[in-house]
Amino acid sequence: MRDLVEQLASNNRLDNASLGRLLAGCVADDALLQLLRDYAVRTAREQFGLGIYIRGLIEVSSFCRCDCLYCGLRRSNGSAERYRLTKDDILACCAEGYRLGFRTFVLQGGEDGTHTDSWLVDVVSTIRKTYPDVAITLSLGERSEESYRRLYEAGANRYLLRHEAADRELYNSLHPSSRGLEHRLECVAALKRCGYQVGMGMMIGVKGQTIDHIVQDLQLVSRMDCQMVGIGPFMPHSSTPLGGEPAGDLRLTLAAVAITRLMLPSALIPSTTALATLSPRGRLEGILSGANVVMPNLSPSDIRAKYAIYENKASWGKEAAEGLQALDEELQTIGYHIDYSRGDYNIK
Ligand code: SAM
Ligand code: SF4
Repeated sequence: MRDLVEQLASNNRLDNASLGRLLAGCVADDALLQLLRDYAVRTAREQFGLGIYIRGLIEVSSFCRCDCLYCGLRRSNGSAERYRLTKDDILACCAEGYRLGFRTFVLQGGEDGTHTDSWLVDVVSTIRKTYPDVAITLSLGERSEESYRRLYEAGANRYLLRHEAADRELYNSLHPSSRGLEHRLECVAALKRCGYQVGMGMMIGVKGQTIDHIVQDLQLVSRMDCQMVGIGPFMPHSSTPLGGEPAGDLRLTLAAVAITRLMLPSALIPSTTALATLSPRGRLEGILSGANVVMPNLSPSDIRAKYAIYENKASWGKEAAEGLQALDEELQTIGYHIDYSRGDYNIK
């Protein structure tokens, strides 16, 4: 098994069977998981040093037309509290974020039908004009290529669209009335054609997912050579059909993060909020598995609880934009620090 880790570290790839054995091995064997994570951390340090990039997360709307089985914002969740930020709300978040030192804003939300191209273009171009030096990341789900292009031309640079599941059957079982995996991947291809730095990724431990599925996910992410990869544990929300399911496994999540780092050495990989919610040390454990990005919450404090994709989501303290000092102190306990630069792909 040690050979597999060394092979992955030197070739940046492994065949399906070996990847499956490595993932399963890491769940059972502490020493193997530690070895994998050590290699991943070494690779991340070669690429990024000891700096961790920060992204200010602005949760622009909790309305969603989709019905993803795992998500508390799904349209069938009648008990979800819905809100949408105005342009002024979003600009106020950016002003506060810029003041705190953020140089990337991430506008994330449900697929809200009122978010027309012209409204979003207005918001993005105003942010671009006000803060020419920031990166603008969007995470607003599936849109047309024309829409992605208009937003890119308005000044957006990056787009996060997790593929969620590379296996068609698993994808369909989780997304009952969606346009399917092919459409999702077409969106990713369209984003790349437009010029975005693109992020993909998946949850670990969602119902129906096997080790073989995770292998397919990792191979897809590697094949697509994406610039950002978001991997976090599934976290249950009681008002969804998966509310009674257990949360994803911490060790398996850390193994998947570490393998991703070794497959894509220069990728931007967040230590996700879900990881920080699953375990008190989750954020640090993600970094100690090769992650190099944290995304503190910059949304207005009165709406944070309403963006409940799962319950008890961490959005305060070190997960909050106003808690940057506490975050930096926490990072220092493992020898890292916040890197306040924009942190584009491949630009160190
Ligand atoms: N609507 C956009 C989309 O789906 O791409 C962006 C917002 S969505 C809430 C962002 C990510 O949250 C999804 O890609 C999904 O992987 C993750 N997510 C949703 N429900 C989750 C859950 N119960 N546990 C962990 N992650 C979850
Ligand atoms: Fe909507 Fe995204 Fe949640 Fe799916 S994951 S229901 S698209 S907010």
